[in-house]
Amino acid sequence: MTLPTIDTNYFTKFLVDLLNIASPTGFAEPAIAFVEKELSQFKQLELSRTRKGALVAKWKVESDLPPVALTAHVDTLGAVVKEIKFNGRLKLSRIGGIQWPSVETEGVWIFTSKGGKVRGSVLIDNASGHIFGAAGTETPRNDEHMEVRLDVRTISEGETRDLGINIGDCVAFDPRVEVTNGFVRSRFLDDKACVANLVAAIKSMAEAGLSPARSVYFHISNYEEVGHGAAAGIPAEVAELVTVDMAVVGAGQESDEFSATLCIKDSAGVYHEGLNKKMRGLAEQYNIPYKTDVYPFYGSDGEAFWRAGGDVALALIGPGIDASHNYERAHMDGLNATTNWIMAYLLD
Ligand SMILES: [Zn+2]
Repeated sequence: MTLPTIDTNYFTKFLVDLLNIASPTGFAEPAIAFVEKELSQFKQLELSRTRKGALVAKWKVESDLPPVALTAHVDTLGAVVKEIKFNGRLKLSRIGGIQWPSVETEGVWIFTSKGGKVRGSVLIDNASGHIFGAAGTETPRNDEHMEVRLDVRTISEGETRDLGINIGDCVAFDPRVEVTNGFVRSRFLDDKACVANLVAAIKSMAEAGLSPARSVYFHISNYEEVGHGAAAGIPAEVAELVTVDMAVVGAGQESDEFSATLCIKDSAGVYHEGLNKKMRGLAEQYNIPYKTDVYPFYGSDGEAFWRAGGDVALALIGPGIDASHNYERAHMDGLNATTNWIMAYLLD
């Protein structure tokens, strides 16, 4: 049996659109709503929300086998306003582990709690080369020294507050999406790329008139970057959970941008041997380019479910992403490999 064809134009458009929707953890509703609207075109799926705001899509089929689940997350790294400075600029508190040097000079949107949007950019607090000379290169890039300069007239705390900006307002870094020669370069491919993999797999199967071999829950998580996204929302009847999240590419890693990876172990622990074996078998059966790897600083939503008491066999697959939690990059070969692996799993 061959796998259905992937509509790569659709995949790319969906991914780029999703990347351009700001969705830091805690403020991911617009991205959840976007995926919900997209999935609503597939009448095979029953859509629901968890109380925490995650999206669950159930594809129910007649089968004696217990259901399975796949999860990927739409929430991303970001920040909130921590402090409004005397000069009207903002100090931030980071959501997840964004690396300050990677967002220095990046554009941001501040989404105010009153529904407004204010533009700005991230700078060190002694940015002017004509004032501070070389001292700026020595400034530690940390919470203390990074600030947001707003593109609105304000030079005082009071004027900034008058813009409707408050402590705790969401700050989203521009993703800066570019697609060139099969490469997708953007922040937050972790894990929007894998949400696109799931949606593309559903679309390809639906259009080919195929159904999964057993009922499936697709769990689109909204709190992964803070460690507990899929801790809730996977029904107890689910026997296997495949987490679809980025693979780590860089020095010392086996993963690359042109393959999908099966993660055997990350810093939170080891995955399920039986399900790993099944995933490897499927990759080999369908000639899907894949690696196995070990991730040094990594925990997944599947592990969050395990830690919360979830009793499932658990695996983690995903496309290779270079420079993760920094300015990330993926390639269509690794992305397609992941979509194919998802379809192979669904059809098995
Ligand atoms: Zn992730």
